[in-house]
Amino acid sequence: MAIFKIITNEDPILRKQSKKITVVDDRSKKIIDDLFDTLYNTDTGVGLAAPQLGILKQIIVIDTGEEEPFALINPEIITSEGEKDSEEGCLSCPEDYGLVKRAERITVEALNEDGNPVTIEAEGFLSIVLQHEIDHLKGILFIDKATPVTKDKQV
Ligand SMILES: [Zn+2]
Repeated sequence: MAIFKIITNEDPILRKQSKKITVVDDRSKKIIDDLFDTLYNTDTGVGLAAPQLGILKQIIVIDTGEEEPFALINPEIITSEGEKDSEEGCLSCPEDYGLVKRAERITVEALNEDGNPVTIEAEGFLSIVLQHEIDHLKGILFIDKATPVTKDKQV
């Protein structure tokens, strides 16, 4: 079990494009375990992307509490439909909140943690979390898209 320090937005590593995983092996499984351990060490996290641990690989983990937790390798959004305002925060931008325009429904192709291809059709909260985490793999933070970004925690 390894809990990492989550990298915050001053660090330029979060702006870098993550690399595709070419072989799914024990190293990718270790990254997935570390992502879940680190995610579950937070109070509020529902997803985490490898670059947030300083690892520039295309791996994300998601646990919204609405479905079984899962990991995706090399996720790619292949269709998106509709538009939705999403109120977001990020473990890497601990003081920032803002409204982001997201697609309402998406289809994602990826590999699961065993290296098998999976297709996920998502809407609602899961769709938002997937879009947020996949952005991390491209070096994009929600604060780049959000209006307005506020430093005050609005309850
Ligand atoms: Zn984030």
